[in-house]
Amino acid sequence: MESGIEQIVEKISGNVALAFSHQAEDAAALHIALSCKALRGRFFAFTLDTRRFFPETETYHADCEAFFGIKITKYSASDADINALEMELDGIERIRDSVENRLHCCHVRKAMPLKAALAGKSAWITGLRAAQAASRAGLNILEWDGENKLVKINPLAAWTDDELDSYIKTNNIPLHPLYKKGFTSIGCAPCTRATAPGEDRRAGRWWWENGACVECGIHAREAALARKPAAKPETKTSGRLSIING
Ligand code: SF4
Repeated sequence: MESGIEQIVEKISGNVALAFSHQAEDAAALHIALSCKALRGRFFAFTLDTRRFFPETETYHADCEAFFGIKITKYSASDADINALEMELDGIERIRDSVENRLHCCHVRKAMPLKAALAGKSAWITGLRAAQAASRAGLNILEWDGENKLVKINPLAAWTDDELDSYIKTNNIPLHPLYKKGFTSIGCAPCTRATAPGEDRRAGRWWWENGACVECGIHAREAALARKPAAKPETKTSGRLSIING
């Protein structure tokens, strides 16, 4: 599968980072980036560690470092920021109270560490595909990330499920173990569930919002990244890859 990334990065000077969030797409994008001659000596991979991962994610992270032979650096919010967030949201209890609360959690645990990960970089590479969700329709291989002020490269932008499936199989790339348990997207444990056959691939992310928003903010192309939590209430009151199902 041709990604077109080599020709793109030849024209970009400076350091380039890849966001690895343990999706099949990220593993394919990392495999492509590591085979790219123009990135040698100026490339690194990072993960936004939300401290709310599934235990399987920690295992898969280590498996990928061994498979690819690289360190995948973890970036997290500070203890102070996490503590302040959890005070506001009663741990994670209130992330389901409103989309704003949930996006606030994503902002602190993902968007803020992303700024640190991208500092000083000329471009970042993602595993985004237009076919993943309606919110990603029209995605281009090359975009400008106005929020973080750098070039964003999406080498899998036009890939179909079958093309991703084929690339993973052909290159024997390891997959997150939760794919075999019905998950079609990998995220934080409190906010990700398995999906039923026929459901959208990202339907298991923040499912209680009934599709109001299936993004965490770091890839929002028009939505505001920072959201404030809603006022605290007085009382508390949903395409699969064949390889995934194999
Ligand atoms: S996915 Fe859930 S736990 Fe993870 S940062 Fe977003 S709201 Fe918080």
